[in-house]
Amino acid sequence: MEFSSKLLENAVYEMSQLPGIGKRTALRLVLHLLKQPEERTNYLSDALTKLRGKVNFCSSCHNISDTVLCEICANPKRDKTLVCVVEDIRDVMAIENTSQYQGLYHVLGGKISPMEGVGPQDLNIVSLVNKVKEGTVKELIFALSSTMEGDTTNFYIYRQLEELDVTTSTIARGISVGDELEYADEVTLGRSILNRVPFESSIKAN
Ligand SMILES: [Zn+2]
Repeated sequence: MEFSSKLLENAVYEMSQLPGIGKRTALRLVLHLLKQPEERTNYLSDALTKLRGKVNFCSSCHNISDTVLCEICANPKRDKTLVCVVEDIRDVMAIENTSQYQGLYHVLGGKISPMEGVGPQDLNIVSLVNKVKEGTVKELIFALSSTMEGDTTNFYIYRQLEELDVTTSTIARGISVGDELEYADEVTLGRSILNRVPFESSIKAN
């Protein structure tokens, strides 16, 4: 792609670094911003800069939060004996949208993937195990994508907890094998949480 301006080229390059945005889309977005009043671009860059500089992660569940403890963890009405283990913040949002779940979450920050160089130490697993060791949690619900990486991650965590007094379950597979959680519709996802199955039986089924 030949650019008539170095400024334009830089903006398109930065935009194209985002996932799912190719050079053409990046160019379309940049030209769109140029057509808009200057404030629009300022609002956007300001929101991103503030997010980057000030973003906090809940000290307990690692959800994105403006406070030390996120709204879900701080809510006295939530069931603190139930913790749903998810890959990332989008999954918390998807499950919250179902209004079927009253427990807490634990955001791992990804899944174990040797192909992408992500090991257990790169995820929030130690804090999860420590949380279970404290003794308040009675049940962990694994709600990871039913992909090979998701299954590997579930199993790794399951092994870490074997000696501990906690029930493990996995969401019912109304979620198709290979599906990413965030794309499941709300009804299916809500039902999957309610009809969860003991984790051990899910291993045998595989
Ligand atoms: Zn939290």
